[in-house]
Amino acid sequence: MSAYKIAAVPGDGIGVEVIAAGVEVLQALSKKSGFELDFKHFDWNSDNYLKNGYYIPEGGLEELKTFDAIFFGAVGALNVPDHISLWGLRLPICQGFDQYANVRPARVLPGVKSPLLNGDQIDWVVVRENSEGEYSGNGGRVHRGLPEEVATEVSVFTRAGVERIHRFAFELAQSRPRKHLTMVTKSNAQRHGMVLWDEIFYEVAKDFPDVKIDKELVDAVTTRMVLKPSTLDVIVATNLHADILSDLAAALSGSLGIAPTANLNPSRKFPSMFEPIHGSAFDITGKGVANPIATFWTAAMMLEHLGEAAAAKQLMSAIEAVTESGLHTPDLGGNATTRQITEAIIALINR
Ligand code: NAD
Ligand code: MN
Repeated sequence: MSAYKIAAVPGDGIGVEVIAAGVEVLQALSKKSGFELDFKHFDWNSDNYLKNGYYIPEGGLEELKTFDAIFFGAVGALNVPDHISLWGLRLPICQGFDQYANVRPARVLPGVKSPLLNGDQIDWVVVRENSEGEYSGNGGRVHRGLPEEVATEVSVFTRAGVERIHRFAFELAQSRPRKHLTMVTKSNAQRHGMVLWDEIFYEVAKDFPDVKIDKELVDAVTTRMVLKPSTLDVIVATNLHADILSDLAAALSGSLGIAPTANLNPSRKFPSMFEPIHGSAFDITGKGVANPIATFWTAAMMLEHLGEAAAAKQLMSAIEAVTESGLHTPDLGGNATTRQITEAIIALINR
């Protein structure tokens, strides 16, 4: 029997609530499906940061490397600046483990209402460059607090980094029925890194003659997402652009509370990380109403990555049956709790 070591990092806020629900669902599924999941919990979060001065303890990343996958909640707290929490916990894992491909599917699940009239046409995967670009961390501040103060935030685009994300996006597009890839750019205004981004896209395209391609500026693609959703399939964009576009995609497909994401290391040299797109959601923390669907969908992506395709499919079917039944948390206009959704999914798995 296959056994997988999973590192669960719930983090902060509703991350704790949705990861607990996700672990429960995954355990029910593994019992039924004939594989084992060994979870180890890591209490790396903002409370411990405030006590100890660090998110990831000495040797923590080394330990994480021994796992088959990382199941992550969210990080962010009201009493810690967001750039400290993000760079303290999530980015060291993404960057340290070279999880360069961030994959974010968006689809309107059965029974869920899109704010768009033609929202049923949404069936996208946003591929986000996840290792460099605008979030490379390259920059600095001098003359702090003085009128002369200067801060720079320098985007970094490398040939190797750009080529591998485009190749990944082409391969993904090729595997989907519509075989369509839209490259998002801003090379009209940003004339160095973005131009390299475009050039390499067309170089890689030569290896994928069966994939239909087009190019869209990042501002224009937002209108296309809203007005002509059916014209998009796979979208490849930089770290910052795809960060923004995927939140839009999540909202257009019903709620941030259903949107999943995978931070993949496609070479599998280091473990990949699976997380809901949303953050720690201070406004609903502790109320028991966080939508766990994003985390469950994320769990299905993790199972797929581990090679348990049948279990992933079973979990997706259970998710769709529950959304279709009208059992919804408040973000989707219902009044169900995290607990009720979790129990409904587990009941379907055990049926
Ligand atoms: P957020 O995703 O936490 O919340 C935005 C809105 O969506 C809130 O109204 C929230 O209640 C709602 N929402 C989010 N997830 C939901 C769910 N599962 N069910 C129901 N409603 C849900 O984003 P924010 O408010 O911009 O950020 C809050 C904190 O989270 C900040 O500290 C931020 O840095 C952090 N954050 C972390 C991550 C991450 O860890 N990957 C991602 C985004 C934000
Ligand atoms: Mn984001």
